[in-house]
Amino acid sequence: MVQQLVWTPKQSAPKAFPERQALMPVWGGVPMPRPQWQNIWKKKLPHATDVDALAYLHIPFCANHCVFCGFYRNAWKDSQSSVYTDKIIEEMATEAEVRTGEGKIRAVYFGGGTPTALLTEDLVRLIRACYQYLPLAEDCEFTIEGRMSHFDLEKAQACIEAGANRISIGVQTFNTAIRRRLGRKHSGDEAFEYLAKLCELDAVIVADLMFGLPNQTDDVWQNDIARAAELPLSGLDTYAFNLYPMLPINRMIEKGAFPTPPGFD
Ligand code: SF4
Repeated sequence: MVQQLVWTPKQSAPKAFPERQALMPVWGGVPMPRPQWQNIWKKKLPHATDVDALAYLHIPFCANHCVFCGFYRNAWKDSQSSVYTDKIIEEMATEAEVRTGEGKIRAVYFGGGTPTALLTEDLVRLIRACYQYLPLAEDCEFTIEGRMSHFDLEKAQACIEAGANRISIGVQTFNTAIRRRLGRKHSGDEAFEYLAKLCELDAVIVADLMFGLPNQTDDVWQNDIARAAELPLSGLDTYAFNLYPMLPINRMIEKGAFPTPPGFD
């Protein structure tokens, strides 16, 4: 986490489709010497919560790297779950001791990576630690971002019982052929059925869809929206595919394994 705070962008444009490039702040930077980490971290600690705020907990692991994704950082291993969870809880406890001010945390967001890759007991511990160490508002929105791999209904239910009240699932597309090419293991129908069951739980359920993916014609996109609309979701987030530099999909497009994605227009 400290490393990400101190990297500065220095990267080359993608060859495949330069007008679709965007930059990720964690790429191509220069790491700070280790002895400086603690000083920089202490300067960034939220000593005061004078106004209401949001809390974001980053879980930088994924079971596999979806080829379009610029957020992927580390391959998931079960052995990392309790170690990483312990570290975050330790950090929250330290921050709670030095925090001043009357501001409340109005929303908590577990993002990544794939927060739902954490083992159930660790997700539950982390949610409870937020209630213990963060000054949460009474009506705090508490979101767990995830994907259906490693997040069965029992795990989702455990998160809700621990205090999460909103679950956001990255579906991207219901088109099975595109999903598989992008590194998603489940079919579009499996994703649909999964979301239908998740919507029966007592939480706000939202899903993400992407547009502008290679091979995603207007018809495919229209079908994605239509299928999502059949579900009793509380919300749907749509966002554009960005051809970030250094993504695996860039190399695949350059080698002709994927067509060039459509332009933003
Ligand atoms: S899309 Fe989500 S699950 Fe896939 S690599 Fe990116 S962060 Fe991980």
